[in-house]
Amino acid sequence: MKRTFLSSLVRDLEAPIAARGFGTGWFSGFFALVFAVAGLCFVVALRWPEYFAMPQLATVRGAASFRLVVHVTLVAGYALALLSLLLRPRKALGATALAIALAATLLGGAGVQPREAHDWGIFFGVDFFALNMIATGLMFAPIERLLPHRPDQRLFRTEWREDLFYYLVSSMMVQLITFLALAPSSWIMASTGSFGSFRAAVASQPWLLQFVEAMFLTDLTQYWFHRAFHRWPFLWGFHAVHHSAKAMDWLAGSRMHFVEIVLLRGVTSLPLLTLGFAPSVMQAYVAMVYIYASLVHANLRGNFDTLGRFLVTPRFHHWHHGIEEVAIDKNFAIHFPLLDRLFGTYYLPRGAWPSGYGVAEEVPRGYRAQLAYPFRRRKTS
Ligand SMILES: [Zn+2]
Ligand SMILES: [Zn+2]
Repeated sequence: MKRTFLSSLVRDLEAPIAARGFGTGWFSGFFALVFAVAGLCFVVALRWPEYFAMPQLATVRGAASFRLVVHVTLVAGYALALLSLLLRPRKALGATALAIALAATLLGGAGVQPREAHDWGIFFGVDFFALNMIATGLMFAPIERLLPHRPDQRLFRTEWREDLFYYLVSSMMVQLITFLALAPSSWIMASTGSFGSFRAAVASQPWLLQFVEAMFLTDLTQYWFHRAFHRWPFLWGFHAVHHSAKAMDWLAGSRMHFVEIVLLRGVTSLPLLTLGFAPSVMQAYVAMVYIYASLVHANLRGNFDTLGRFLVTPRFHHWHHGIEEVAIDKNFAIHFPLLDRLFGTYYLPRGAWPSGYGVAEEVPRGYRAQLAYPFRRRKTS
């Protein structure tokens, strides 16, 4: 029952191009679904903040304008769902969005009040997930439809369920990840109190300069971290999970082993957290890097031969995932290809794209099997 419902929803979302054009109710249905799910997540976060909301976003949730955003999100979900139901012969998309928006309203809608206070200390960042989904899903899913590099690749391409699960886990566990990742920097901060004047000097620079410096220093750290994960067999077991994606799109970048996410965040945020950058620089950088990571994996056309030499473009990172022999251990940077040019790992042939993506070894499918993979792999090989 559940399966057939889900499959009819998926069939509607993956309808042939002719049944997906403007005026068929597909776009209204798709956006209705995104708004309804985001609205439901906001309401859940407002109703049970101890379980489902991030403390860091408490001021955002407390603002009167946030209630207005929730209200507008839900109204948009309703309006678009009705439009889709009117326009579209198939009703799965519109009906699902309508049901989800209705559930959000029944839970209290934009006026929902927090329920039961308790002291668990664990929660899921449902609000973060919703914000993340609006920022990335709403932006990239339609752009990929309009400007695809591989037009034949479907929205629900192979292994999309696995990658959506990765996306969910990393958004929901953002609190745990942040907590684990902050440990090394708090230790460094505690033992280097005498560098206070240096930090003050960093913070007094112009905002934009700090931002570019933060990008560069993070990328420099990320470059060597990333290279180490390609170099050492035990670390490669974790990173092979990221490279096992056979299709590239905005969602594919989320596929990353939990251990690698925590280590990556911990190590790459060290310069940001310990060198004294202004908090607003760090926040802007973190928001930017989420979007940038989706962008470089996205199924987007455009060669950008000149721009690609200075800034990482989708084609640059697609080569990092390429199955070609020449693409192995190339293009480690995530912002500045200059790093790869400096350290001899740059590869970006004019106008060319890799013929496919993935790794030579057989990485198992599914979240749990991939979680265990690095440890199993070591035993057998
Ligand atoms: Zn890699
Ligand atoms: Zn990647």
